[in-house]
Amino acid sequence: MSRSILVVGTGAAGLTVAEELRRLGYDDALTLVGGEDHPPYDRPPLSKRFLKGEAGPEQLWLAGPDALERLDASEYRGRRAVAADLAARVVTLDDGTALPYTDLVVATGVAPRTLPGTAGLPGAVTLKTVEDAATLAGRLRPGQRLVVVGGGFLGTETAWTALSLGCEVTLVTPASTVLPGLGPHVGALAGERLTAAGATVLTGATVEKIHQGGRLPRDEGLEVLLDDGTRLTAGTVLTAIGSAPDVDWLTRTELDLSDGVRCDAVGRAAPGVHACGDVAAWYHPRSGRHLRLEHRMHAGDQARVVAADLLGQRRDLEWVPYFWTDQGPHKIAVHGLITPEAEYEPHEADPEDDRFTGVYRTDGRVCAVLGWNAPRQVLRLRRELLTTPGPTEALPPAAPKTEPA
Ligand SMILES: Cc1cc2nc3c(=O)[nH]c(=O)nc-3n(C[C@H](O)[C@H](O)[C@H](O)COP(=O)(O)OP(=O)(O)OC[C@H]3O[C@@H](n4cnc5c(N)ncnc54)[C@H](O)[C@@H]3O)c2cc1C
Repeated sequence: MSRSILVVGTGAAGLTVAEELRRLGYDDALTLVGGEDHPPYDRPPLSKRFLKGEAGPEQLWLAGPDALERLDASEYRGRRAVAADLAARVVTLDDGTALPYTDLVVATGVAPRTLPGTAGLPGAVTLKTVEDAATLAGRLRPGQRLVVVGGGFLGTETAWTALSLGCEVTLVTPASTVLPGLGPHVGALAGERLTAAGATVLTGATVEKIHQGGRLPRDEGLEVLLDDGTRLTAGTVLTAIGSAPDVDWLTRTELDLSDGVRCDAVGRAAPGVHACGDVAAWYHPRSGRHLRLEHRMHAGDQARVVAADLLGQRRDLEWVPYFWTDQGPHKIAVHGLITPEAEYEPHEADPEDDRFTGVYRTDGRVCAVLGWNAPRQVLRLRRELLTTPGPTEALPPAAPKTEPA
């Protein structure tokens, strides 16, 4: 019987599954459903080069028209899946189209969280799509006041970009430093650099309300009220407080959606269903937990494992994920997994070049390495410290597998 693989979501993960399937020789039917009316494109530049006006939409494409043609897939672009019947193996789209499949790949990513009262408020924005980035870029004019709510990667990167465009930037975060996921040492340094570049960074601060500010001038029409009574005025407020897995269309299925789509260690979620990318929480054999990561390279790595598994080829995910963030002129790269309990220790430093590396340990064992303006050094550390499991490392038993039908 011939197969029909349906991929829902055509970001980095969905596209990579399709490309890898074809590369591995799959020549049965392939269908791609993508909620955005664009060729698949890359998101990291949205808060960096694209926002600065240094790259146009076409430079973000992960696959242009020719590459898509070569995939020989049926494409439903600008259409969203709204329901799935896993027993009947049919996905329904928002225009009523019913797509039968033999194998489904869920690659629908995440959607930005918002703050109550901000929907439809002019100047209150989030940043996920190329349209969001174009809207924000249009507002970041010299002298424009931008309040960024959230001190994670997206918030801090956008703050740096807005400073470079001449905006007045205030960043508000409830955490004690920006980039809290990197620990207090690196987070404090990143905050100091952002402040030195001209941003006002308010840590330990929570937003109570964002609203239109009555008689304020047009370019400062929004008021952000903080929990300590501080009132900030802004022309633009970017809410960057994290994201939620885009799984609404799956809520009536039997999939475990407690944090995205819960999968085993090769991306199987249920018979006939795989998931990968930001939406997927894969079983992590080393820690015995399920982990959902929102990193660009990890999405592609998972996608290649899923494609291989769909074709009966066992390939394990190399669980040394990598992500980077551009903090203005500073490039931070992390390899590995920084657990909340991990302790940071400096490794090498070259203060003259503003360059250093550090390691994170959990229970004495290195779980991640970080490079600050040190891409080559951190790669070396990765090879030395992360790729060989330590002698005391006992792998817990694999999670129970759900076999595809
Ligand atoms: C502004 C920005 C900057 C970033 N910078 C970095 C960075 O510097 N480094 C890094 O490692 N990572 C970065 N990331 C994260 C990285 O882009 C993601 O990890 C990556 O895009 C995940 O790919 P994905 O395919 O899983 O999901 P996505 O890229 O989100 O793609 C999912 C696609 O599925 C579609 N979809 C959702 N629901 C449906 C539905 N029901 N039907 C059909 N289609 C649907 C969505 O519209 C979307 O097109 C950044 C993300 C953003 C938004």
